[in-house]
Order: sequence, then structure tokens, then C-alpha cells
Amino acid sequence: MASRRSRPVVPSRASVGSAPVRLPDLGLDAEDAYEVVHDEAMLDGNARLNLATFVGTWMDRPADRLYAETRQKNLIDKDEYPATAEIEDRCGRILAALWRAPDPERAIATSTVGSSEACMLAGMAFKRRWQARRRAEGRSTDRPNLVLSSAAQVCWEKFANYWEVEPRFVPITEDHPTLDGHDLERYVDERTIGVVVILGVTYTGMYEPVEQVAAALDRIQATHGLDVPIHVDAASGGFVAPFLQPELPWDFRVGRVHSINASGHKFGLVYPGVGWVVWRDAGLLPEELVFRVSYLGGDMPTFCLNFSRPGAQVLLQYYTFLHLGHEGFRRVHATAQDVARGLAAGIAGLGPFELWSDAEDIPVFAYRMRPGHPGPWNLYDLSAVLRQYGWLVPTYPMPDDLTDTTVQRIVVRNGMSHDLARKFLESMGEAVEHLERLDRPLPHPGGQRSAFHH
Ligand SMILES: *Cc1c(COP(=O)(O)O)cnc(C)c1O
Repeated sequence: MASRRSRPVVPSRASVGSAPVRLPDLGLDAEDAYEVVHDEAMLDGNARLNLATFVGTWMDRPADRLYAETRQKNLIDKDEYPATAEIEDRCGRILAALWRAPDPERAIATSTVGSSEACMLAGMAFKRRWQARRRAEGRSTDRPNLVLSSAAQVCWEKFANYWEVEPRFVPITEDHPTLDGHDLERYVDERTIGVVVILGVTYTGMYEPVEQVAAALDRIQATHGLDVPIHVDAASGGFVAPFLQPELPWDFRVGRVHSINASGHKFGLVYPGVGWVVWRDAGLLPEELVFRVSYLGGDMPTFCLNFSRPGAQVLLQYYTFLHLGHEGFRRVHATAQDVARGLAAGIAGLGPFELWSDAEDIPVFAYRMRPGHPGPWNLYDLSAVLRQYGWLVPTYPMPDDLTDTTVQRIVVRNGMSHDLARKFLESMGEAVEHLERLDRPLPHPGGQRSAFHH
């Protein structure tokens, strides 16, 4: 402390006054600056009580140690960090095999900052392949389209917008709560670059039936001659299905599936900052999209949007593979699913709610108010009351054609114990009791739409 104070050019914390929004002329002492930021970051929600996010909020101590030791590594510096590059490659092979690539040696994979970047890359590969084919046929490459559920994650809207592809959203309905191939021929045409099937819909946690969509595309090919590939957005499910539903053929076992993405930082159990995309065959990735970086006399293909990015997350991913193995992943996710099922049953038992999904796919479920439930309160009010207990539970309208339906969703992640779940149910019970006693509506909490697109 004394040595710090002996440097007069550094102003003290007290002299900063309110939080600077302009670069200060003189810097703070490091410890003081640390405290300012540390104290302010403490005001963020408690990650453990956040039932909204899919993203990893906990890793064990050896992982934390590894993270601290490797946080300076830049993944793109393949020259300087060839061992990290090699580990990234191994992770890609592990995933290709986990997702049943018929010949993992022919598969090609890359890590990304998350599923959003992974989806952009997969979408670009679709667009380029479609363009190349159209050109070869001497046909126009105008107005490509991508077919996907209206419940697709926002990254697909970004892809369509940034890469100028028309998104053709197939609305979900009570009868078809996921993209299931129904009516698909109304959306697919000769300009369709691909169909996205979601394994673990963000809104509800449900799997879209990949095989069934593939069968619908087979029929379309038989009648119209259109050969349309599938990309599986397995941001959540890619790290769940191989362990909890190993018999479900959602992956490269389905011939039409060209590529799959998943978020390492969701059920891949790594801190934020890592995603993956795998193509079943390197030939499906147009060569002109791949940039070659030479290192150690070798030749490292890269396909990514950003140049520099943290390498530590990739090492952490490899750590989770080594440490957990197949059985460890199965146990972690089976526990989460068990907790989620218990919570879903408990919430259904409270009275006012009806389950929309039941955590049978990924450990995520959604519920709505029972139709005709009397009382002046709604799910937004419940979210607001739960927040007073510290719990973050999002409420939002469903996408087209179900925008009249409002749901609340719970994501159970590693670290949500049965004990914590029991405490949550208690809070929920109290909150409901409180709301049921109201005789008039609460003044409405400000922003009604929570950020849930995680
Ligand atoms: C979370 C999610 C994404 C985006 O993933 P990030 O890793 O957050 O970029 C995309 N698709 C689905 C289905 C998701 O759940």
C-alpha cells in the first residue's frame, strides 16, 4: 500500500468521483482501478441464480488454473502456439467422431468464438456451393434463400441480413411446434441454399426432428429434383444428444446433413468464447473460403471471421474432453436433466402453469399460464417478483405464428443442484402465492421483453 501511495502522479480512487466515461488524463493506481471495476462488476446478477442463460458460468479449479495459465494465447498465432493449434485440431476430430461423421479423417472442423460465427461459416459454405452449382448450370445466382423455423436463433437473422440471403421462416404452430418437414415444399425451391434444423430450440429446448425433415427433402428431391442440404444448428444439443439420446440420428448419420455447429460454451461446459462447426467432408467447404496460414513449414487452413481470438477456451474444451470423457459428460447432463424434470414437474404442480416442453431433449423447458387462469397477473409479473429473490427467469412471446402465447423458460446448467432447485421452487411458490393475493394488476415492469436469445 505504502509504495502505491508514494507515486504522486497517480490520482487516488476518491478523486475519480463518478464513473469516468472519458479516458482520464491520469490513470489510477492498478489496485484502485481494480477495485472500481471489481465493485461495479459485482452489481451484475449472480450467475448461479441465472436460469436464463445457456452459457457456461462455472468450471472447476484445475480448469480455472489452466485458463489463468493460457489466457495470453492468441489462437491465430499458429506459429507461436503450434501445440494449441494441434489441440484445436484434435477437438475437431473428437467432435466429428462424436457426431458420427462416416469418415472422421475426411471431415473438417474449426473452432469459432461461438455458435453465431459457426452458423455464419456454415451458411456461407451453403451459399457458395449453391452459387457454384448455379453458375456451372448457367443459371442466375440471384436471390438465394435459406429455409428455417421462425423459432431460429437471432444469429440466423444476422446471417441472412449480412450475407444477403432471403430467410424463409416456417412458422411454428400448436400442431407443429418445431420445424418437422410439414409443408416444406411450399418453402423450398431452386434458390434454396439449404435448410437449418435446430437441435435444441432456444425458445423451448425442443429438438427439431432432423430425420423427418431429411425425409421431407428426399420427397422434394424425388418430385422436383432439388437436392437441398441440411445444416444442424446444434448450439445446445450437439453437446447433449450424443450423451443423453445416443440412439437419436440427428447428426452425420443423416446423409443430408452437411454441417453441424455447437457452442462449446453452452453444454460443452466451457466459459464463454468457443464454438465449433464441422463439415462431414472437406469437399463440402468451398476451397475459396479457406485461407492458408503457413506455420512450422506446414500449411494450416483457416476459415473464420475474426483473426485474433483467445486460444485458452479451445484448451479448456480439450480439458473437458479429457477430464469428463463420454461417461462424465453423460453424468453431468443426466443430472441437469434430472433437476430440470423435477423442476418442470414442480412448476406444473403449482397450479397456474401448463408445461410447453418438459426437458426431455436438452435440460431446458418452457411453460405458459394455464388458459383461463383467473387473476390480474401474468408471467412478466412473475419474472419481476422472482428477480426480487435474485432469480433471473425470462418471459417472452413465442415467435410466429404463436406470438399470442407468452412463455417462461428455465435452463438448467451444470451447477444447478437439486438443493438449489428446491430453493427456487420455494421462491416460485411464494411468488405465486403473493401474486394470487393481488386484487388488481401490478404497475407494469419497464422492459417486458427479456433478453433470452442466449
Ligand atoms: C445460443 C444459440 C446460438 C448462438 O450461439 P452463441 O454461441 O451464443 O453465438 C445459435 N443457435 C442456437 C439454437 C442457440 O441456442
